[in-house]
Amino acid sequence: MKKIGLDAGHGLYTAGKQTPDGIKEWTLNDDVCDIIESLLAAYDCEIIRTDNDEGKVDESLSYRVNAYIKAGVDAFVSIHHNAYTGSWNNATGVEVYTDRAPTEADERLARDIYKRLTQYTGLKGRGIKRANFAVINQNKVPAVLCEGGFMDGTFDYKVITSAQGKKNYARAVAEGLIEFLNLKKKENTGKNEVIYQVWESVKDKWLPNVEGKSDYAGNFKNAVCCVRANLLYGNIYYRVHVPSDARGKARWLPEVKNREDYAGNYHQPIDAVAFYTDTGKKLCYAAHERKSGRWLPTVTGYNMSDSINGYAGNFGREIDAVKVWFE
Ligand SMILES: [Zn+2]
Repeated sequence: MKKIGLDAGHGLYTAGKQTPDGIKEWTLNDDVCDIIESLLAAYDCEIIRTDNDEGKVDESLSYRVNAYIKAGVDAFVSIHHNAYTGSWNNATGVEVYTDRAPTEADERLARDIYKRLTQYTGLKGRGIKRANFAVINQNKVPAVLCEGGFMDGTFDYKVITSAQGKKNYARAVAEGLIEFLNLKKKENTGKNEVIYQVWESVKDKWLPNVEGKSDYAGNFKNAVCCVRANLLYGNIYYRVHVPSDARGKARWLPEVKNREDYAGNYHQPIDAVAFYTDTGKKLCYAAHERKSGRWLPTVTGYNMSDSINGYAGNFGREIDAVKVWFE
């Protein structure tokens, strides 16, 4: 199985690395890394993150290099966003860096990502460049550093802080890695699994993907706000219910397919969730209630007007974990 080193540059508390209105670069980098991880979840690869996954520590550059060399990764990508003056300006565009003495593999990895980065983000291509960035400055492992747009550029800012812009950046890197490493989709062992994850409201982030019944997605006591899922083969559809949307209304949010999007809104806890697939196999799912601390009965249907077997959850009571599996 191929291994990938993935790095969200800096840390949450790294001074100066932010948009003029205070969004931290690490947060943007981390959002993109999380989407890359979810896009690659269906592929036969393992991802090793070399930054602190809550951003609390700005891991040193030598720590990051040692971590991915020691893990024996086949490629390494560091995700960044650029800045020019730190105040609003007109700087724009994407770049991919190799070190100053790139190997053929460094250059190929850079090209595989760069050609997609300009295409998918729609931002100006500033080129494949060389620099003495410590985090990629070795020749044992193909390694590149990506700059996905300017945090202080008024045009780029809108792109890089939007959900679609983050997804486009992530897709360029994920597909570049798929081409570079010739990654294959995980083999169908006949035992299809659901790969899923949740975004929770205390850590304010996506938790790692989990698979099948032996695990669940969530941290007990911390409300789930969003859900994202895919199958190894076939399609999964899902949606979540919020007790209170931005206007204070209880409602079902739109249905989502696979990882084309996620179901839910950041910072809005959910109280119910529903899934179905087109595989013809029996899908089961359950929700864990935050207050009572118990798993609610397993559900197999998908019907917003069937409170018994059409969705998992009780309106008005937040969920802190979700479990989904094929029987
Ligand atoms: Zn940076």
